[in-house]
Amino acid sequence: MMKNLLLLGASGSIGTQTVEVLRHLKDTEYAYTLSGFSVYRSIDFAERLISEFLPEFAAVVDPEAAKELENRLPPDVKTKVLSGREGLFYLCRNAECDLCVNGIVGIAGLEPTAELLSRGIDVALANKETIVSAGEQVMRLAREKHCRILPLDSEHSAIFQCLQGGNKAVRRIILTASGGPFFGMNWENLRTIKKEDALKHPSWKMGPKITVDSATLMNKGLEIIEAVRLFGLSEDRIDVLVHRESIIHSMIEYEDFSTIAQLGVPDMRVPIQYGLTYPNRTESPAKPLDLAALSRLSFYSPDPVTFKALTLARQAVRTGGTAPTVLNAANEVAVEKFLRDEIGFLEIADSVEDVLNRTEIISQPSLEDILLTDRKIREKKML
Ligand code: NDP
Ligand code: MG
Repeated sequence: MMKNLLLLGASGSIGTQTVEVLRHLKDTEYAYTLSGFSVYRSIDFAERLISEFLPEFAAVVDPEAAKELENRLPPDVKTKVLSGREGLFYLCRNAECDLCVNGIVGIAGLEPTAELLSRGIDVALANKETIVSAGEQVMRLAREKHCRILPLDSEHSAIFQCLQGGNKAVRRIILTASGGPFFGMNWENLRTIKKEDALKHPSWKMGPKITVDSATLMNKGLEIIEAVRLFGLSEDRIDVLVHRESIIHSMIEYEDFSTIAQLGVPDMRVPIQYGLTYPNRTESPAKPLDLAALSRLSFYSPDPVTFKALTLARQAVRTGGTAPTVLNAANEVAVEKFLRDEIGFLEIADSVEDVLNRTEIISQPSLEDILLTDRKIREKKML
């Protein structure tokens, strides 16, 4: 029997690369049937996906776009179009699936993840904001329901792969970071950065939100929190190492100082495919690694003073409770404002710091507390 896959955020960078992996795995023992997918409003893409994969459900969060897609589909197409955020929830509660890939961007991915874990379904998770904001709660849910969260973020997939021998005697995790497009710059240089500059990433082609996060290094800050939650190590045992070539995706140092690293070309289809075939492996659509052609790999320490998002993320996870939720929500709002040219590049981290300083933190929050905290930060327009 072929396994069923549910793909959330199908039209994004992670989503479209997952579709490429699905095509690549077709006719192999790891093939999946696409039982359902979601987009926000990319209905041209949705239409193509429906005609190629004939899924049972297609959820379109924007109701106008959902109506338009419904009108476009020929009458003989059996796919049910679900509309709005309710439609997305219906999809998560009802689509037949053995695995869900969650490639939604932002906190919008949290409730869908929780719905699927509640059904005992494994989630291959790219949506890091879920783990940052509600990591303890979703990890607990996965334990209770005996299902897995398989990390798709390249660094966390790397750590997950390095830990296959078990996580005993781990001394520290070394998260590698490309350093983003502004590596080596100081505040003076960063003051005049424009959106167009921040949207150019040196090694990865990704959606706009994570590309800006990579430029501020908030992405690495979020990934520190993600690693704390996924692998249960304290923040002070997670180091960041700038590695411009993005070949080593992360490393584990053991008590005896033996270090295990995972290497590969920077291509998200590798961690995505590993999530789909886990615990097995098969040839991927990416290129093999040619180290002789590369000849050298370089490493530097990050600059947590200029790129203070790193420091803020460490503080938030040390504080715990809803502090990472506040950090994440404030950052999402700030990045949206930056992308609308309403604030400057340095104001992203400044405003996150300001909101963190002004918000009361709830310790041991429930999932409802987290959703409420997130909403309050957005509604208060504290930035
Ligand atoms: P994109 O912006 O490229 O794609 C986002 C997807 O989510 C699209 O399908 C979009 O639909 C949908 N979407 C947007 N807003 C909402 C919403 N409010 N509710 C439901 N769906 C929504 O993002 P990426 O693929 O780059 O990133 C996705 C997640 O994966 C992020 O959390 C990111 O941090 C993480 N990640 C991404 C990596 C990458 O290489 N891209 C690497 C590691 C992690 P539509 O097209 O209709 O707007
Ligand atoms: Mg990453």
